[in-house]
Amino acid sequence: MLPDNPRVLTCPKCKGQKEVMTLMSGNTFGATFWSDTKREAPMLPEVSAVQKCPHCGYYYFTNKQSYKTSKKGYSSELGTLSFDDCKEALAQFLNESLDSKDERTLRMYTLFAFNDKYYRHAKDAKPNDDSKFKDDFLYFKVNALRLIELYENDDKTVLFRAELYREIEMYKECLKLIDSIKAENERISAIKNAMKERAEMEDNAVFRI
Ligand SMILES: [Zn+2]
Repeated sequence: MLPDNPRVLTCPKCKGQKEVMTLMSGNTFGATFWSDTKREAPMLPEVSAVQKCPHCGYYYFTNKQSYKTSKKGYSSELGTLSFDDCKEALAQFLNESLDSKDERTLRMYTLFAFNDKYYRHAKDAKPNDDSKFKDDFLYFKVNALRLIELYENDDKTVLFRAELYREIEMYKECLKLIDSIKAENERISAIKNAMKERAEMEDNAVFRI
């Protein structure tokens, strides 16, 4: 992985600057793939498409801002949003304007961030009786249902939508969708079976694929 001079973004609200990483080259060696479609590639880190301004807290889309490239140094800043950041960003954009493509992007981050927080990188099992978890899970559920709606007419996302139903504990809907998929190859077939097995056991945790 070869870093390049950082990109300098300018906040559209306060004009404050933020440096983010750029890469000259990278690769997917050692990447991990997850059932919610997240890919974690340590040699190919991705800058978040949505950034939070460190000066005023405003959220903006990285590729919609003019930017400069610094002539020196490197930055490891990706601007990855936490689950709470995602909630704030969604509230801000839904109050301003958000087309369906950008909404999908932000809601995918919300999905990943929730799973990061409670499942993927959590040492302990999910805290079922924790009230913060219950609130977050409710938010996660509404977010997943909206994602299912946003991807409804896309035949390529049936497996993904089945996974969303499983993660929000709607196992019947998950299994119905899984049964409608004709596995085209061994890999899809293996993922389908792993998902089905978990849904039948009412296990909603994201898993490595
Ligand atoms: Zn700002």
